Amino acid sequence: METSLDFLGDLRRTHSCGVLRASDEGQAVVLMGWVHRRRDHGGVIFVDLRDRDGITQVVFHEDVGPAVHRRAEQVRPEYVIAVEGRVAPRGPASVNPNLATGAVEVVASRIWILNESRTPPFPMEDQVDVSEDVRLKYRYVDLRRPHMQRNLILRSKVAFVTREFLNSQGFLEIETPFMTRSTPEGARDYLVPSRVQPGSFYALPQSPQIFKQLLMVSGFEKYFQIVRCFRDEDLRADRQPEFTQIDLEMSFPQQERIYEVIEPLVQRICQTAGITVKLPFPRLTYAEAMRLYGIDKPDLRVPPMHPVEDLLPELANAAMPLVAIHVPETGTPSRKERDELKVFGQERGLRVYDDVKRLERDHAGAIAKVRERCGAGDNALLMLATWAGQPKGQRPEETVLQACGQLRLECAQKFQDRHKLLDPRNFQFLWVVDFPMFEWDEEEQRWNAAHHPFTSVDDQDLDKLLTDPAHCRAKSYDIVLNGVELGSGSIRIHRRDVQTKVFAALGFTDEEARRRFGFLLDALEYGAPPHGGIALGLDRLVMFLAGETSIRDVIPFPKTARGTDLMCDAPAPVPERQLRELGISTRAQAK
Ligand code: ASP
Repeated sequence: METSLDFLGDLRRTHSCGVLRASDEGQAVVLMGWVHRRRDHGGVIFVDLRDRDGITQVVFHEDVGPAVHRRAEQVRPEYVIAVEGRVAPRGPASVNPNLATGAVEVVASRIWILNESRTPPFPMEDQVDVSEDVRLKYRYVDLRRPHMQRNLILRSKVAFVTREFLNSQGFLEIETPFMTRSTPEGARDYLVPSRVQPGSFYALPQSPQIFKQLLMVSGFEKYFQIVRCFRDEDLRADRQPEFTQIDLEMSFPQQERIYEVIEPLVQRICQTAGITVKLPFPRLTYAEAMRLYGIDKPDLRVPPMHPVEDLLPELANAAMPLVAIHVPETGTPSRKERDELKVFGQERGLRVYDDVKRLERDHAGAIAKVRERCGAGDNALLMLATWAGQPKGQRPEETVLQACGQLRLECAQKFQDRHKLLDPRNFQFLWVVDFPMFEWDEEEQRWNAAHHPFTSVDDQDLDKLLTDPAHCRAKSYDIVLNGVELGSGSIRIHRRDVQTKVFAALGFTDEEARRRFGFLLDALEYGAPPHGGIALGLDRLVMFLAGETSIRDVIPFPKTARGTDLMCDAPAPVPERQLRELGISTRAQAK
């Protein structure tokens, strides 16, 4: 039977459901929200009324107000109601210490049923046994659950303190277009067809990179934006086709000036989630990060690797590194665990010396020195690894170190319950600096920009741009948190001659550079100041702060790994007429 519904009229709520305390006894209140739970004890009905602030217990006594009690009998979970009543203390036995409002209840004198609800597809609890697809289909219901509410409230606070902090540092929030030309960040573009210019397309920006540089040319000096970026790439667990960056740019900076803004900003942001981080953040060059961690985004919670070919030259493979991997407090790994790790290493091209007892027997003195170098106690896992064959690539030593770095992380993850090093509330930030300028693309047999094509080369390497690209370092930097790249930035090229050279090193013909980036090249000829900046991934940062493992849990309406919005069923075919207006015919139709 459908319930007859009441109008809101000019009824006004006096309090939220999270604020009433014992000191409010006797207050007349009007609360509004959702029925979280309803318990019917015959003559007495209890309703836990929920809004975004909390839950308050409302009680309907049959003997006090039989009509109101009867109306309360009709409500079900997730009905939207308003109640008027008085705040009363709960008896000592029924005080709920787990609820902020648990000392009181509201004795209802009136009730308005504002809307009904179908039985929700899953309960409004933190832990629900339901697939993510169902959660995404009914996202508006999913977002009511307490931890999703907390996540989005946290996200809003992070955005707020970011604006507050950057404003206080003289940054201006300036918007840049979404419908634009391609802004390359290494992904494919999402395209928007133009109706009035059939056959022409806008690209959605992969980042506001070029625009923020142009704003520096225009003399705004300090820019920021909390901005959506669009990248059409193969999706992974922590990727979304559209995502949000805290994007900034400033004029006349050295790299240090950027760190001076970002470090206190990040510290301030972390405070909002009760996480303390110490400044300054450690810095590693790319070369150091590779040598110590075998990756350009090291997780500092796990100890570094150590090169030990000088101690055990007989085990090293030619000129390749011999690496000691050490994870404390693992206990002695079983034969099976060692075998699994060995296979993991072998699959990545390594020769793994996993049997430390045997190594100690055969190379007692040297292993004692390895232990000392790593600081590895008896209870630690210790393994050695080197390359099994002939390493490939433009920087072969990196290939070896990368494989060792993967084995190091696998070792750490395998025993994480024992050593507890991977505590998600332990935030270990660092800067990785001095990246190589270019990356070799095996498939295309050419150099790509390691960051993006607008990044400055190190002053000392300017002359090597065209002669020795493999060894050019960039003025770029990444901010890394617990093994995840949180953001990257660089000092930019502000001179036309240098930008032209870099385009040439990247294999662009003059004509192509002109066609794609002519407006930027022109702008560099009109008094472009030295400038640089960075962008931080807001979704990932909030994910860490919220203690989540998927960015989808901090994005209100995310897409699945296949890029689908399950709630509104996007992407979707469009009517033929709409395509015709745009001058488009698809292959699917042409067939
Ligand atoms: N546009 C760059 C990115 O999206 C960030 C930057 O260089 O400021 O990664």
